[in-house]
Amino acid sequence: VSSLLSRYRTFKVLVIGDSGVGKTCLTHRLCGGEFPSRVEATIGVDFRERLLDIDGEKIKLQLWDTAGQERFRKSMVQHYYRNVHAVLFIYDVTRPASFNGLSAWIEECRQNSVGQEIPRLLVGNKSDLRDPSRAEGQVSQEQAVSFAKAHGMMFFETSAKNPPMKRVNGWRGDRAVLYQQ
Ligand code: GDP
Ligand code: MG
Repeated sequence: VSSLLSRYRTFKVLVIGDSGVGKTCLTHRLCGGEFPSRVEATIGVDFRERLLDIDGEKIKLQLWDTAGQERFRKSMVQHYYRNVHAVLFIYDVTRPASFNGLSAWIEECRQNSVGQEIPRLLVGNKSDLRDPSRAEGQVSQEQAVSFAKAHGMMFFETSAKNPPMKRVNGWRGDRAVLYQQ
């Protein structure tokens, strides 16, 4: 098994964002699981992996699911960003505070990745809870697209709950999605 796995190129992807936005649920779904009926709050960091075959290339996607507000974060944060290939910044489309909170996460990323050019993706989660009859109290896709453009990020809106996870009104940005450092 180990010789088989060694043929996979590992991509480390960090999942970042305020507590409760759905990082753990999304990570679970991205790794092939169902939407969890119950989730424990993440402590520190959890790991999940998924093996992918992309155009004949064997890829091991390694997701680092981090805790939002965490006492020990400061001592761990450098580990999180070491040799990272991409960062997913998650917010909850029905909780504008989680969108406004992104600047702090982007700043954390910037401080810990000096000299690296890491692809960053903006991901609006819980789109299944979006109420089209009202605008206030929700983050619009237009707001998110302009934020993504301003920060050179790609943008996707999704739901960890309603399968299949589908990309809504994505903004691809100007860069490749993933690359190996
Ligand atoms: P984390 O703190 O960012 O890891 O968030 P969790 O993954 O623990 O999810 C927080 C809460 O949001 C849980 O009650 C989940 O069931 C719920 N949740 C997560 N993603 C979605 C989603 O896409 N849609 C809905 N409706 N609820 C979600
Ligand atoms: Mg979590």
